[in-house]
Amino acid sequence: MKSKVYFIDFKTSFQRNIFDKLSNIADKSGFYNFFEQYDKVAIKLHFGEYGNFSAVNPRFIRFFVDRIKGKGGNPFITDTNTLYAGHRCNSIDHLKLATMHGFTPGVVDAPIIIADGLLGQNEIPVKVNKKFTRTAYIASDIYNTEAILGISHFTGHIETGFGAAIKNIGMGCASRKGKMEMHSTTIPKIRLEYCTGCERCLKWCQVEAISIVNEKAQIDINKCTGCGQCISVCPYNAIGIEWNAKTEYLTKKIVDYVYAVNLNKKGKMFFINFLNNITALCDCTPIYGERIIPDIGILFSEDIVAIDKASIDLFIEKAGKDLFANLYPKTDWKKQLQYAERLGLGNQKYELIEIQ
Ligand code: SF4
Ligand code: SF4
Repeated sequence: MKSKVYFIDFKTSFQRNIFDKLSNIADKSGFYNFFEQYDKVAIKLHFGEYGNFSAVNPRFIRFFVDRIKGKGGNPFITDTNTLYAGHRCNSIDHLKLATMHGFTPGVVDAPIIIADGLLGQNEIPVKVNKKFTRTAYIASDIYNTEAILGISHFTGHIETGFGAAIKNIGMGCASRKGKMEMHSTTIPKIRLEYCTGCERCLKWCQVEAISIVNEKAQIDINKCTGCGQCISVCPYNAIGIEWNAKTEYLTKKIVDYVYAVNLNKKGKMFFINFLNNITALCDCTPIYGERIIPDIGILFSEDIVAIDKASIDLFIEKAGKDLFANLYPKTDWKKQLQYAERLGLGNQKYELIEIQ
């Protein structure tokens, strides 16, 4: 059986603005069915890296907050800290950046919570027993919330071909340790040229895996658990990871994490993909980003596989060719959809229902 994916384009008029169209699609798509009165609803999104202007506009987020509240839900806005050092690698910097990008309680009218804690360490281990992932490490506030609305910005992605709902939920709901396990097969690496020997990372490592040798930090591979905490506390950006996971394994691990998130949220997740401001690189890049195609529209679905498949199909139709296959010939975006379907997360066959 085909899954339903609902679609509106961005054509508006004086008589009918984009919020009128969003109201219509929300009413017709079953949007109100994924949460119940009093549910805490995590609106999982991406605030955009510093210098990136492509993430979903907070005024859209306000619309969904109002709708969820109107039906008795209790929404909050959320993302998790990044693995790499940057403007979103701890909750303080992350919230400052969110404010700078207009995601303030005054605009979105909901609390903003970074779901994996100050340093990305608050996690719940979830057993999935898949080939590439035995245990997934999910941000605790994502695990503990009752329902999730995944609002995703469709973009190209250097490692997965494209990023949308699967990427937003799979990578975006993992703690730092989870992201580390997806991206790398090794422990963090000290960049000796940046290390000042300040010892700050020593105090944070809970298993005492770091020592100072010849005035430089050194990690004991036999002790390190790969939690990634040291990366976020080094003030000199002297600890990094090797982004060495094969793209196919990375893709499958991301899907395993969607599986993990879904385990205690069956029927309690809904997805919205924005196909506007589409760039070749994802919103984690600090790049303004040239739009590679005119805006397409907004999709709603309760099926994470169907919505991503419909998104890439609409993109290819608009572009007239598979632009991401050309841009990233070493990745195959089909793999994430095929594997997600195999894990029972959704259906690649869908019916696209256009709403006016
Ligand atoms: S915190 Fe950074 S600079 Fe300081 S010792 Fe550790 S790696 Fe070196
Ligand atoms: S990754 Fe975690 S366990 Fe390994 S050295 Fe860094 S803080 Fe210690």
